[in-house]
Amino acid sequence: MSEVPPATRDLLDFIAASPTPWHAVENVEERLRRAGYVEVREHDPSWNLDPGQRGWVTRAGGSIVAFRMGNKPSLEAGMRIVAAHTDSPNLRLKPHPDRQRHGYATLGVEPYGGVLLHTWLDRDLGISGRVSTRSADRRIETRLISVNRPICRIPSLAIHLNRGVNKDGLCLNAQDHLPPIWALSGDSPEALPDIRTFLAAELDVTAEAVLGFELCLHDIQPPTVSGLTGEFIHAPRLDNLGSCHPAVAALLTTDDLGCEATAVVALFDHEEIGSRTNRGAASSFLRDVLTRLAGGTRQALSRTVPRSFMASTDMAHGVHPNYPDKHDGEHRPVLGQGPALKTHHQWKYATDSEAMAVFRGLCQDANVPLQEFVSRSDMPCGSTVGPIIATELGLRAVDVGNPMLSMHSIREMASSQDPPHLQKALEHLFQAARL
Ligand SMILES: [Zn+2]
Repeated sequence: MSEVPPATRDLLDFIAASPTPWHAVENVEERLRRAGYVEVREHDPSWNLDPGQRGWVTRAGGSIVAFRMGNKPSLEAGMRIVAAHTDSPNLRLKPHPDRQRHGYATLGVEPYGGVLLHTWLDRDLGISGRVSTRSADRRIETRLISVNRPICRIPSLAIHLNRGVNKDGLCLNAQDHLPPIWALSGDSPEALPDIRTFLAAELDVTAEAVLGFELCLHDIQPPTVSGLTGEFIHAPRLDNLGSCHPAVAALLTTDDLGCEATAVVALFDHEEIGSRTNRGAASSFLRDVLTRLAGGTRQALSRTVPRSFMASTDMAHGVHPNYPDKHDGEHRPVLGQGPALKTHHQWKYATDSEAMAVFRGLCQDANVPLQEFVSRSDMPCGSTVGPIIATELGLRAVDVGNPMLSMHSIREMASSQDPPHLQKALEHLFQAARL
C-alpha cells in the first residue's frame, strides 16, 4: 500500500465537511480560530496589525482572506500571497423549486459553473447551502445547512428508451432533464412537498420565517483513498478545495517560524462563474484587505507590490491515458509527480518566465517535483483567479496546481501523494525572505 500522507487524509476530511463554498469558509475559519487567528471585519475602524499578528476577514460568506503579519513591515519585506477558489460546479435549486410531474415531486435546478452534467445522474444526492430567516424581532439570520442523506436523485433514462445513447452520446437539456425526484406526490396539489416547510423542519423555525436560500445538491458518497495500492483519491470538489486546503495548511504550519514577510491566503467564491461579483477575485475584496495590511494607503500598497509574490493555486489537467491527444506532447502532467506550473502566452495564466524561475527555485529548495502544463495550441485554454488578481494589483505571479482527472465531475480523481507536495512548496513561499 502507498502510505497516505496525513495531509491527504486531512484534505479528504475537509472536503467531506465542505459541500458548499460557505461550508468551506466556515471550516477554514474554524481551523484559523483553533490556531489563534482573530476575526476582523471590513467595517471595523482599525485592525491590530502588529508584527506576527494573525487574523482573517470574510466577505459574503464564500470568500475569505487570512493573514499573518510579517516580522518586518510589508513595505520592506513584501507579501507572500496564495490564492485559490472555494466554489465548485454543481446544481442549485431555483427560488421556487417545487414541481409536480406525473406523480412525482421534483426540484427545479440550475447548473452553477461548467458542470459535467452526466456525472450527476444516478447519484445519492443531499442538499446543502445557506438559508436566511427572519426572527420575531425582525433580525435576519443566515445559517448553513447540510442534509447528508440520500434525499433525491436524477435518474438516467433506461437504454431501452434511448437506444442510440452509447453511439451518439448523451444530450442533456438543463431545464428538462436535470430536476431530481425527491418524493411521490400523486396528482393533488396538496400532496406536493414544499421546500420551505422542509427547510423550516431542518432548522427548527416556521416556514414563514424562511425568506431566502442558496441551496446546492451534493453527492453524499464520502471521499476515499483508491487504486491498487492507495495511490489515488476520489472525491467531489477537488477543484478547488484540493488547493484551498494546502494553502491554509501551509499558512498554519509556518506560524511559529517568525517569517519576515506578511503571509496572505485569499480564497474566493464565484471563480466558476467568472469571478466578476462582489466577492469574486475581480472584486475590491483583496485590494481592500491588502491596502490595510500594507499600511492603509494606496501608495503603501503600490510600493509593497513589487516586493511581493503570488501563487495562484488551482487544479491542473493531468494527462488521461484514454485521451492522451488532448494534451500537448511535451506538457502532460501525470498524477503523483507533483504540482504543474501553468503558462499561457495569451495570459489565461499569470505565470511569466521570471515568476516561473522564482517558484521553480522554491520547489528545488523544498525538494518538490514540478511539472508543466500548457494547453494544446488548437484548444481554448481554461483560466483561473491568477491573471485576474495579477492584472488588478500588478503582482508577480505563477499559476500552479496539482494534476487531476475528471475535472468538474461530481466525483473527481487525483493523486494521494500530491497534496503535501503543493503544501510544502507554499510553506517555502511563506518563509522566503527575498524573492
Ligand atoms: Zn478551479
